[in-house]
Amino acid sequence: MIRELSSEETALFKEYIEKTAAVVAALGDRPAAYLHSYGCQQNVSDGEKLKGMLYEMGYDFTDSPSDADLIVLNTCAVRENAEDKVFGNIGAMKKLKESNKNLVIAVGGCMVQQEHIAEKLKSSYPYVDIIFGTHTLHELPRMLYDKLSGGKGCVNIPSVDGIVTESVPVLRDSKLKAYVPIMYGCNNFCTYCVVPYVRGRERSRRPEAVTREVKSLIAQGYKEILLLGQNVNSYGKEHGVNFAALLRALDAIAGEYKICFMTSHPKDCTKELIDVIADSRHIEHHIHLPVQSGSDRILKAMNRGYTAESYLELVKYARERMPDVSLTTDIIAGFPGELREDFDKTLQLVKTVRFDMAYTFIYSKRAGTAAAKLPDPVSSAEKSAWLRELLEIQGEIGLENNRGFIGKTFEVLCEGHDRHKPEYLTGRSRQNIIVRFSGGEELIGKFVSVKITGAMPWAVEGQTDV
Ligand code: SAH
Ligand code: SF4
Repeated sequence: MIRELSSEETALFKEYIEKTAAVVAALGDRPAAYLHSYGCQQNVSDGEKLKGMLYEMGYDFTDSPSDADLIVLNTCAVRENAEDKVFGNIGAMKKLKESNKNLVIAVGGCMVQQEHIAEKLKSSYPYVDIIFGTHTLHELPRMLYDKLSGGKGCVNIPSVDGIVTESVPVLRDSKLKAYVPIMYGCNNFCTYCVVPYVRGRERSRRPEAVTREVKSLIAQGYKEILLLGQNVNSYGKEHGVNFAALLRALDAIAGEYKICFMTSHPKDCTKELIDVIADSRHIEHHIHLPVQSGSDRILKAMNRGYTAESYLELVKYARERMPDVSLTTDIIAGFPGELREDFDKTLQLVKTVRFDMAYTFIYSKRAGTAAAKLPDPVSSAEKSAWLRELLEIQGEIGLENNRGFIGKTFEVLCEGHDRHKPEYLTGRSRQNIIVRFSGGEELIGKFVSVKITGAMPWAVEGQTDV
């Protein structure tokens, strides 16, 4: 069942924020919290809610765990290496706990939602005070209050997953780009993927709530709105408003801004949706459309619900409607039972589509998923070799695509100084292409016209067109 917090629950949530704030104030003037979110944007967005609550409870933030009185790790479970990283970091925190008796450590998120991980945390890392799952974000104030007022700490991992709450405060990392979750969970059960098990069934926020939030963000000066969901294309089933209709309503909001979204599932990506993007004023001409494999046999084993041919048809339609559309994708190499001839089909598809960017992963076995039971005879060395081949091919395609932009003019949202070359500014075009260019501070936060003069494999560079 999907439900929003009742008014009593919302009142209780607020009461705990106030009660915790009183206890936190007694610890000193805004004690420091260290919060780290691993993994996808959905997790980063949850992290912004955790930050919002912590700020209201009187914490300030530090980038250094050793300066913190509270550490919150918001974990990811999508691949094994993400989990290894978290365990490594928690292990290193034992020393901090020994030197600061007041330190509270909380570990939450997708990884913890898995029973065997919660058990391992309890038995091997007893100095972790609070363990919380993905459906209990709004209970952080209560959990923290109990611990800070002398409690033993808690493990709070309910399996209920129907709650959508609009009441949680958000402290956003950027003043320019805002994450807006439009739905939670996933119903697709791709056979390799742990997400439906740790995030629960798909549930969408009400369209009025999304529209209200986006309007308010635009009024506050946000220039980029990133709509988030595991499969945004199936948004809104319970509200009778599909994703295309939601996008159309958001596009009608007055102002200077762009709307991006992820992730689109090819099986639910409709021509109607592509038409809405093509005809819009504010929606980025970019579709992140994870293909995962180019082999129909493997796509079937993955339970993806489309074929290479139907995927290519979608790509063709998107390019007919938007010749400038940028297409990016996710690819898994080495799914159980995948043969070299299957992987060759993936390479062929990559060469046919010519993606602007591909996020590539070696298959990682996830406990409890259907694929975890399948025989997986190909060695990891061989899978790594496949991945390298893919990266090389995609690298060349990316560079060639970017060279094709030389001479064109992009409208770029200037995000700030380039991380690697701070004398340059950086931003993304309406097609989500990364653009590096020279110009003054006053351009930051503005849409700027940039003429492209050079290309790199991952970005282009240019000059402001003044
Ligand atoms: N909901 C999105 C993506 C979720 S996870 C979608 O369906 O596209 C992001 C990416 O991680 C996936 O697209 C997939 O390529 C990769 N991924 C997920 N589970 C994985 C696993 N077990 N091993 C390797 N890669 C995985
Ligand atoms: Fe995982 Fe598939 Fe759902 Fe994406 S659509 S989150 S890959 S189960």
